[in-house]
Amino acid sequence: MRSVRNVLIVGSGAAGCAAAILFARDGAAVELIEIKPDLSALGSGITVQGNALRVLRQLGVWNEVAAAGYAFNTVGLRTPDGTLLVEMEDVRTGGPDLPATVGMYRPALARILTEAAAAAGAKLCYGTTVESLAHDADGVDVTFSDGTSSRYDLVIGADGVRSQIRSLLGIKLESKPTGMGIWRVFTSRPESVTRTDLYYRGACYIAGYCPTADDSLYAYLVEGAQDRAHLTPGQRLEIMRDLASHYHGPWDDIRAVMTDPGTINYTWFESHLLPPPWNRGRVVLIGDAAHTCPPTIAQGAAMALEDAAVLADVLLAADDLDQAAFDAFTARRFDRVKTVVEESVQLGQWMLDGVEGNVPALMGKVMGLVSQPA
Ligand SMILES: Cc1cc2nc3c(=O)[nH]c(=O)nc-3n(C[C@H](O)[C@H](O)[C@H](O)COP(=O)(O)OP(=O)(O)OC[C@H]3O[C@@H](n4cnc5c(N)ncnc54)[C@H](O)[C@@H]3O)c2cc1C
Repeated sequence: MRSVRNVLIVGSGAAGCAAAILFARDGAAVELIEIKPDLSALGSGITVQGNALRVLRQLGVWNEVAAAGYAFNTVGLRTPDGTLLVEMEDVRTGGPDLPATVGMYRPALARILTEAAAAAGAKLCYGTTVESLAHDADGVDVTFSDGTSSRYDLVIGADGVRSQIRSLLGIKLESKPTGMGIWRVFTSRPESVTRTDLYYRGACYIAGYCPTADDSLYAYLVEGAQDRAHLTPGQRLEIMRDLASHYHGPWDDIRAVMTDPGTINYTWFESHLLPPPWNRGRVVLIGDAAHTCPPTIAQGAAMALEDAAVLADVLLAADDLDQAAFDAFTARRFDRVKTVVEESVQLGQWMLDGVEGNVPALMGKVMGLVSQPA
């Protein structure tokens, strides 16, 4: 008898949708619940690296991702005045037949993944969350925010950095700010931007950009974390434009199209890593609910997608959903995720400390690791 006949997945981000597609495709009855009332039509961009693309291909959405996003295989390093120091071939962590990177508009990726989950047979329910859960040896009883309840073989908490499922399990995990804050703008793509260029130092720790489609990009400026919560949209635009004025080359073209206050976002970097195991009974945490890292290496969504793929691989092959099956899952994930989280934090810490760290060695280590199959 199959070990997972029905599964509840909480959170329709990259991790939750990927898990929904894989479990539903295998014949499990999948319910995917999302606390937001609908699929957001607004958002920023995301840098999707090869190892994430490898999972997206496994999910059957690679063609749609390639059509909606902007693929590139090099990365540039520039000085604040815009001088191009070097253009490097980027590591194709998903293998030679996938690009090194695809930049995407986050809502476009979310739409592709949720549509694929629905097409695989998952039942999506927006505006819903879990009120309480109780797990025993054979299943999990769940009560929902609308008062209804149901029983599942498996519950997957894919509900992000401040996971409610994690709290309901009584797991204490402190997300620590890393000391950096990031300004992001989503806007139209000037012709001068055809890949990511990174500018280190100047008025910010990092300035960079990533094309997300023929007609769009997102650009970012990383500063020391500050309390920016009470600024009006107009003030946000003004501050980001002022910081951006210290960077030139393609940044001059980007600044010229940074005019809409509604497209500016500011958030702090933070990190956490849940020690093994990532389950309590038949409730398991994946993605940011279990681990989160600053986007200094742009691997968060990749790790979330890989979690889902490995979880499906392990649990769908298990005869029984016992602790050994969950331990096998966490064992395949923990060291890899730990390295990504720790090195992502380290990269930012060197900048905060003004230390000349060995960035090529760090990047080589992480890129080599994530190039291996998950
Ligand atoms: C500024 C910034 C930039 C980043 N840039 C990149 C990048 O370029 N590349 C990259 O790979 N990663 C990047 N990341 C990391 C990446 O965004 C995350 O690692 C990734 O989104 C995690 O996916 P997830 O599915 O685990 O969680 P999420 O994407 O957070 O999805 C969780 C979902 O659960 C829902 N939810 C929450 N609570 C509940 C609840 N109680 N009930 C039901 N649903 C709930 C949420 O609404 C959400 O839809 C960045 C992160 C930050 C902060």
